[in-house]
Amino acid sequence: MQETLTHVPSCADDYDPTSLSIELARERIQQALQPIADQETLSLRQCLNRVVASVIHSPRQVPAHTNSAMDGYAIAGSDLPDNDNASKIFDIIGTALAGSPFTSDCQSGQAIRIMTGAVIPQGCDTVIMQEHVEVLAGKRVKIAGGHQKGQNVRPAGEDVDTGDTVLKPGRQITPADMGILASLGISEIRVFRRPRVAFFSTGDELCSVGETLQQGQIYDSNRYSLYGMLQRLGVEILDMGIVPDDPDAMHTALTSASHMADVVITSGGVSVGEADYIKTTLEALGDIHFWKVSMKPGRPLTFGKINQAHFFGLPGNPVSVMVTFYQFVQPALHYLASGKTHYPMTLTANCTSRLKKRPGRFEFQRGIYQQAKNGQLVVSKTGEQGSGILRSMSQANCFILLPVESQGAEPGETVEIQPFEGFI
Ligand code: AMP
Ligand code: MG
Repeated sequence: MQETLTHVPSCADDYDPTSLSIELARERIQQALQPIADQETLSLRQCLNRVVASVIHSPRQVPAHTNSAMDGYAIAGSDLPDNDNASKIFDIIGTALAGSPFTSDCQSGQAIRIMTGAVIPQGCDTVIMQEHVEVLAGKRVKIAGGHQKGQNVRPAGEDVDTGDTVLKPGRQITPADMGILASLGISEIRVFRRPRVAFFSTGDELCSVGETLQQGQIYDSNRYSLYGMLQRLGVEILDMGIVPDDPDAMHTALTSASHMADVVITSGGVSVGEADYIKTTLEALGDIHFWKVSMKPGRPLTFGKINQAHFFGLPGNPVSVMVTFYQFVQPALHYLASGKTHYPMTLTANCTSRLKKRPGRFEFQRGIYQQAKNGQLVVSKTGEQGSGILRSMSQANCFILLPVESQGAEPGETVEIQPFEGFI
């Protein structure tokens, strides 16, 4: 086929016939996952972002009573003036406040002073806004024509009715959901257990924050960006520190991590040319795949299982760690937590920078997008795009997505972006 000629690798591009597309990598990861089935019961305040485990039906109506939507006067709709030009005078025989109902009957020719949220009194079905009446001496009120029977009244159950399905399993609880559950008087919720994630950094050159750097050492930044990304997801975090480039240490750390967590994440040590022992160590521990994903940054990616835990071996470069986490690990954790598949959302924006790229790999360049005066999204790149330049991630608020075949972009071209806000 003629078309495949463009895919023939050459030293001038980044094509690698043995590499895996992002889609295929995602598919293979997804196929290996089973959503977490363990459940727990939590109080309402602890439920934000947690995943509903059993369907919640409403035990009651909200609002519980038919009530007034306005401050005004409640009357019977049948008592309204006959036509738009007529008016009628009513005796004010009592007051209904929210939480303090008027308990007698309202007869023809009578009105009740009523406040927003107050129960509609017996005999009434209509509320006239206080701004639309004329209050007269002697506890009377004049109401003109032009009103509708039933106006300004909120029927019982208009928000939620008894037996309504309120939240289904898999739903991640939002602040609005917390409010609805409270309005139903539900104080405890059955939710799925959160995924437990253990992670550590590998590398003899790494030094922890708080220690003094020795010659040739660098501070371990990956553990902190990973910690932040995991924290945002609300998973249970087990930070296992730094593990040296040593087969036994690696073996021990991976084994104990796999017994404690649903997911084990490491960074570093999987790049081509890294000492072979890591591959051997991992292969001895479980069913592990070493992928070259056709993406930049983040080409080397290791995925598999160690005992019962899923394993992600992320690249060591700080930007690669974040890119591969967002594209692969985060959707996997989301699926384990909720049984739902959710990949980062993409938008289109007008590119104001010149973006350099060679065909062959899908690139995640770092960009800053904003809304221009005309409402259109515009995006510019953050500068140097090396996979070690973590400031590019810090300055960016989106990835600029450049597909495999793309040769970059010129100012004025439309590009796809993935805003970071959509990630959580
Ligand atoms: P590796 O994949 O282990 O070959 O690492 C690739 C690059 O990322 C090297 O320059 C490492 O020093 C760097 N690197 C690896 N792990 C970390 C880390 N935890 N924090 C900062 N840089 C790292
Ligand atoms: Mg290393």
